[in-house]
Amino acid sequence: MSQQERVQEELEALEAILMDDISITYNAKGCAELVKSVIFPSTANEVDKQYVCVTLEVELPQDYPDCKPVTRLKSPRGLDESTVDHLYKEIANKCEEYIGHAVIYELIELIRQNLTESNLPTCQCAVCLYGFSEGDSFTKTQCFHYFHNYCLAKHVTVNEKNFLEEQDKLPAWKRSTVGFQATCPVCREPISCDGTKLKTSLPPKELQDAQKFEVTQELKMLQQKMQQLFNYQKSKGGIIDIEAEENKLLLITNSEDNNSEDPGPSLSSSNPPVEQQPLHNGLQNRNHNQRHYSKYSNR
Ligand SMILES: [Zn+2]
Ligand SMILES: [Zn+2]
Repeated sequence: MSQQERVQEELEALEAILMDDISITYNAKGCAELVKSVIFPSTANEVDKQYVCVTLEVELPQDYPDCKPVTRLKSPRGLDESTVDHLYKEIANKCEEYIGHAVIYELIELIRQNLTESNLPTCQCAVCLYGFSEGDSFTKTQCFHYFHNYCLAKHVTVNEKNFLEEQDKLPAWKRSTVGFQATCPVCREPISCDGTKLKTSLPPKELQDAQKFEVTQELKMLQQKMQQLFNYQKSKGGIIDIEAEENKLLLITNSEDNNSEDPGPSLSSSNPPVEQQPLHNGLQNRNHNQRHYSKYSNR
């Protein structure tokens, strides 16, 4: 059997087993280039018990399966970096072991098994930055982001309050007709949540056990160092008037900009050192961020 026929056979088998859970991209010559699959833990189809997921991308070089494919893990949800690193190591071993043989299904099963074993978020809550301990009540959003109920309640309450205040300032004809929509604090996807249930949740365990914040000698020294840096930037013309700066940023409304992937002048070696043009650089970088910001906020 030719190498291409072997690949075709592997992909047909994958499609038969995984059906809609797999997508295959072909190049102009009709050869399969990329295989993608979103992998969830096995929970006997109980979707609300799936706390983690990850997308596996397998790029097939021309000589696959006689050489290793290129693998990537994308959009890990509920997984911290060390878990993802561990997965990469296991994937590399599996690919090594299977040179000359169909490996994609093996990879999917390997990842699924790992996800099933660690089917509890190992990541942090993006609001309080503490982890999830046993007994903490937490929410998995539809976009697979995790928050302690206590933290999500705070986020939603503040957002709703801001929304209502903004609405109050508008003339009646400009006010929203759909009302407040809670959004995910990480990706801003609309989320549905039970406000009253969230509000009665206790603070996360790690937050309750955390040491009381104190200004230590070390922090005082850091503060002094930052003060010096601030004064230095100020003397070089850096932006320090936050209010004026914010007003400027509001003027930028163009979200589709070809330069949005431009890393900014400070990263390019052909530009003069940063300190010779602090104002220019500062503005460029802030504008750069703002473009991304408005891109997301428009969703
Ligand atoms: Zn939290
Ligand atoms: Zn989200």
